[in-house]
Formats: sequence, C-alpha cells, structure tokens
Amino acid sequence: MIGNFPITVDLPSEEILSSCIHCGMCLPVCPTYNMTFDEVSSPRGRIRLIKSVLEGSLEITETFIHEMNFCLDCQACESACPAGIKYGSLVEAARVQIENSDKVSQLSKFIKKVLFRKVIPNFRFLKFLSKLLRLYQKSSLRRAFYKIGLLKVFSKKLPEIDKLSPKISYFFSDEIFPEFVEAKNEKRFRVLFPVGCLMNVMFADVNKDTVELLTKLGCDVIIPPNQTCCGSLQSHNGDMEIARTLAKKTIDLFVRYDFDFIISNSAGCGAFMKEYGHLLQNELAYAERAKVFSSKVKDIMEFLYENFDISRYEFLNNSIITYHDACHLAHTQKIVDEPRKVLQQIKNLNYVPLNEATWCCGSAGIYNVVKYDYSMIILERKMNNIKNTNAKIVLTGNPGCLGQLRYGAERFNVDVQVLHPVTFLNKIISNGKI
Ligand code: SF4
Ligand code: SF4
Repeated sequence: MIGNFPITVDLPSEEILSSCIHCGMCLPVCPTYNMTFDEVSSPRGRIRLIKSVLEGSLEITETFIHEMNFCLDCQACESACPAGIKYGSLVEAARVQIENSDKVSQLSKFIKKVLFRKVIPNFRFLKFLSKLLRLYQKSSLRRAFYKIGLLKVFSKKLPEIDKLSPKISYFFSDEIFPEFVEAKNEKRFRVLFPVGCLMNVMFADVNKDTVELLTKLGCDVIIPPNQTCCGSLQSHNGDMEIARTLAKKTIDLFVRYDFDFIISNSAGCGAFMKEYGHLLQNELAYAERAKVFSSKVKDIMEFLYENFDISRYEFLNNSIITYHDACHLAHTQKIVDEPRKVLQQIKNLNYVPLNEATWCCGSAGIYNVVKYDYSMIILERKMNNIKNTNAKIVLTGNPGCLGQLRYGAERFNVDVQVLHPVTFLNKIISNGKI
C-alpha cells in the first residue's frame, strides 16, 4: 500500500524502469502511442508519470489527467512487457488518485457517483431507465430528432454517440429464467451464472443463449435473484470504494449456493471477479472467501475448452468466420487460444484469423463516448482488418466490443454480422446454422 492509497499497487523499481529505455517492446502494441508517436502517450511514458504521482514527486497536472484518460486500459502493454510490469493496476490506481483530487469538477464527480453508485448497481432502477431508453430508441421522436438535427444543437457528436449506444433488449434476462434451470442432458456440472448489469438489459439475448447452451451441454444453471453489478465498471472509472462494496455484495449472495463454477460471458466482468481475491486481500472477513470465489470464476470459452468436446457438431453455412479478442479476455485473463480451439472443433468451420486480433477495438468501457474521435480512429483500423478477412461473421466475447463492432460495421460499411461466441455455438448445436 502507498500511504492511504485505496488499492494495492506494485510500483516498478528504478532498476526495472531504467531497463525500459532499452526495451520498448510495449510501443508497437500500444494503440495510443501508434496514434501520436509521442513518448508521453506510450506505456513506459505513462508508467514513469504514474510512479512520480503516486510517490508524490509530481503533482496531478492536466497532462497527467489527459494521459490517464487517453489510455484505453487495454493492457496490451502488460501482455508485451518482459519485465512483468502490472500496467493495468497502475493506471487504475492513477485514475483513483485523479478522482479523489480537486482537479475533477464537482459536477463530473456527482454525475459519476449517481451513475456508478445509484443507477448501475440497482437493477430495478436500471431496468426502469432502460425501459424509458427502449421507448425512445423505438419512437418516432428519435427519428424526428435526427431529421431536424436537434441532437447536434447540444453537441456535434451527439447523434453519433446516440447511434453508438447498444439497443436495449426487448426482454431482460433476469426476468425470463427461474432461479434454477436444469440440465437438458446428462448432468455434468452445477454452475452459477451472473447476468451482469449491462448484459442483462442490453444483451439479454446473449444471456439467454448462454443459459441454453450450458443446459444443453449438461449443466444445471443457478441464476440468483437480486443480483447486483460486479463492480468492474466502477473500478475502471476510479471508484474503488463502491467497486469493493459491490464485490462483497456479490460474494455474500453467491456463496449461499452450492456450485462448481461461476460462468461469465462478459470479459470485463469475468476479469474483475477473478480479481476479487486480490481486491479484498486486506479485509479479514472476506479475504479467504474472495480467494475461493475468484478461483471458481471461468469465462464461458475457457470453461467449454476445459470440459467439453463439441467436435460432433457441424457448421452448415460456408460463411467465413473470424474472431476478435476482447482486451479483458486476451490481456487481462490471458485467454487467447481457448476460444479459437473451441470454435475450430466444429466441423466445416471456415475460420480465417484476424490480423491484429488482440488490438483494442476502441470501446474500452466508456472510452468510445468520452474520447469519441480517438475511438473512431482505432475502430476504423479494426474494421479494415475485419473487412480484409472477407468474414461474414465476427465473434467476440465482451458486450463493449459487440456494441462497438456493430456500430463500426454500419459506420465503415462492412458487411459483417457481429455475434458473441455463445450465440454462435448455441445455434450450431441446435441446427448447425446461423
Ligand atoms: S493500456 Fe493500452 S492504451 Fe494504455 S498504455 Fe497500455 S497499450 Fe497503451
Ligand atoms: S515492455 Fe515493459 S520493460 Fe519494456 S519498455 Fe514497456 S514497460 Fe518498460
């Protein structure tokens, strides 16, 4: 711990940092450095800044704030770093420091507090607001706003940001399943499924596919009622206090059940729940339970790879399929080969690898909203790579990437369907077709 800093961070030693000068392996993989070619926007430039601020030798300056927000927290640099510098926890610590400083306006703090503390964790309220948003998204009012250019009055980018927000699902996944859903075939596992905050209201179809797929493969699925958000969004936006509270609530709720694994279909949530053990290591009442909890968390593709053989299923279309790695799956959870190996078990799958598959798509939490222009530069690069595969279907395992790539297909005119791998697999297992 550094001073009264609210999370545990391992600052790299001066010795490691001096080796950075001759290394630079993180530079070619960093999307922001590749936009500016400015050392200060590179991982090693930022690490130096963060260390100075956390040690108190540098004030929080405008440059520091810009760099911490310009960074996508994609953690590609962490995967590339031979010295094992934990960049992700450094940038998140820096964001907490910024949020706690007087450099952030009271209004911005208030909006974030309401959003991350009152709206997102409260599923009832979140669903109520989602219903209103769904009405707006379907209404002629929205079309009229576009026609008369009303959104542009507030901000030139608002119409694009409005299009970028994923559509609210026509049902909410926590309302369609009972607490226990029985395995359809011979029972193999008993798993617990967190529906997620945004997944529940914006990607309810993916949650439905997940539960269906798991039961078809022989899993009893537990869907605890009264779930809350896992805390991932809050931690990435610098509010560790509420992130920790939500982690504890989630543990308290889930440990009431008897299960083999907790299955996540959202890379960001899975990555964060795997971190609970570390997050709560200094809290006596939770440290041990959090460690056990985290050891049971599996991403759905990791779980399928480790436990199932799906090689008897066949893909009956001849469309080319490709796969984009979500950063929180590839760089945070180090799950890269598993999804590809699961997919490649399917007979007649015309799989074409995606160039720069582990390069961020520019979604990165709320980055595509707050840094829209940079996000679009990154997205264009991704969509060009997808176009070059001639794929008709691109698969990706995170809600942020799903929304961003769907928007990218429309904006950059790429004829590709963007699906979560579980949606794809559920359909293949049902009838071999998409
Ligand atoms: S997290 Fe991503 S954007 Fe940030 S410094 Fe590392 S590679 Fe660059
Ligand atoms: S890869 Fe690691 S050691 Fe090398 S320059 Fe980047 S941060 Fe420094």
